[in-house]
Amino acid sequence: MEYIKKAVKSAESDSDEIRGIVKGILDDIEKNGEKAVRELARKFDNWEGDFILSPEKKQKLIDQVPEDIKQDIRFAHEQIFGFAKAQKESISEFEKETLPGVRLGQRIVPMDVAGCYIPGGRFAHACSALMSVGTAKAAGVKTVIACSPPRGESIAPAVAYALDVAGADIIIEMGGVQAIATMAFGLFTGKPANILAGPGNAYVAEAKSILSSNGKCTIDVFAGPTESAIIADKTADYMTVAIDLVSQAEHGINSPVWLFTDSRELGEKVLEVMPKIIADMPDPKVPEASWRDYGEIVLCKDREELCRVNDEYAAEHVQVIAEDLEFWVKNLNSYGSLFLGEGSTVPHGDKCSGTNHILPTKKAGFYSGGLNVLKFLKIYTYQEISKDANKVISAAASRLSRVEGMEGHARACDWRLKKYFPGQDWD
Ligand code: NAD
Repeated sequence: MEYIKKAVKSAESDSDEIRGIVKGILDDIEKNGEKAVRELARKFDNWEGDFILSPEKKQKLIDQVPEDIKQDIRFAHEQIFGFAKAQKESISEFEKETLPGVRLGQRIVPMDVAGCYIPGGRFAHACSALMSVGTAKAAGVKTVIACSPPRGESIAPAVAYALDVAGADIIIEMGGVQAIATMAFGLFTGKPANILAGPGNAYVAEAKSILSSNGKCTIDVFAGPTESAIIADKTADYMTVAIDLVSQAEHGINSPVWLFTDSRELGEKVLEVMPKIIADMPDPKVPEASWRDYGEIVLCKDREELCRVNDEYAAEHVQVIAEDLEFWVKNLNSYGSLFLGEGSTVPHGDKCSGTNHILPTKKAGFYSGGLNVLKFLKIYTYQEISKDANKVISAAASRLSRVEGMEGHARACDWRLKKYFPGQDWD
């Protein structure tokens, strides 16, 4: 492989500094609780008001949303909720007699409390509210607490409407690390979250990761600054490729966009046209910086090398604009979500086609896909071993316990053997 353009920064190179800052903020909140949160909200978001959005204020915000926008939000919700419901239907509870008298089963139980973060620093991410809250509700979560940073005097009206449509039970006007900690510790609500879900900037993603490491809650996935890759061959239209790369570089100055291609001609044409497309954006500074620092064009010798490079980057979004789409579906093995063919652009999935846009970044695609209904569900197992089945199970478990040096375990099994089958020699 060869670089037609190489990045000078990566998410990994940013990590240590961010982690240190986030740890400091979390320590402050652990020590000083709600008082620290109020100070942080003042410092980072210039916010002095109440945090919990009252029903009256929510209604006033909803009233400001034009009817056609409401319709689009409801359309997006139907697609996202519908896909999440289909995911739920694809898994089931079951029970099986695996040996005579051995009844094993699986139950699926929704979590009690989900904390969903809806980013709101640079953009009013209304669709993100549908992605996290809607999916939690499709799973059957009883209480969904949503946090989103205020923009001026409130959260954005479209975000308030999307949260309402998706079924958020409590809405908190708060952003950043303090919002994640608030949901994790149950500050202002008395309801600590079992799961912290939703995307955010590097501080937000790091806070989720740190808070889940103490074992008190889990997270959906490490969903930090957006990353996008396009795999394109010589059949791809270079303008479409470049426009799509710019669409994703818009997310933030630290949002990488990568092109993987086996066509030098395509790679060079994209390199040439990118500055022009960026310059034509209303706010070119952000895509300019992300393309300059994080943008990359990688030239590979064939499809197999393209797959290897793709799997090494494990980008959050991967678009394929190339021949033989089925080859890529079968052979790409690390990514957040896949967009096949020129007709599918990342904004479709970001907004309303139905798959979730809360997706793994910073190589979390190595071990996880994006947010889905399963993340809000607990899969519990149970068993009933009949007295007769103890003859097989207790006997084996007793021997295995002694191999492991666990005498107490062995005796619990031996006790049953002796009790249920008296007079037999179990030594
Ligand atoms: P955000 O809501 O994530 O962050 C804004 C908050 O960050 C503010 O409320 C503030 O409290 C806090 N903050 C700002 N500067 C800080 C500092 N110096 N120290 C500590 N805290 C600070 O909104 P955003 O910043 O616009 O970022 C949204 C992010 O979400 C983007 O990076 C975007 O790419 C990402 N995203 C990711 C996915 C995904 O699935 N991975 C999906 C959508 C969006």
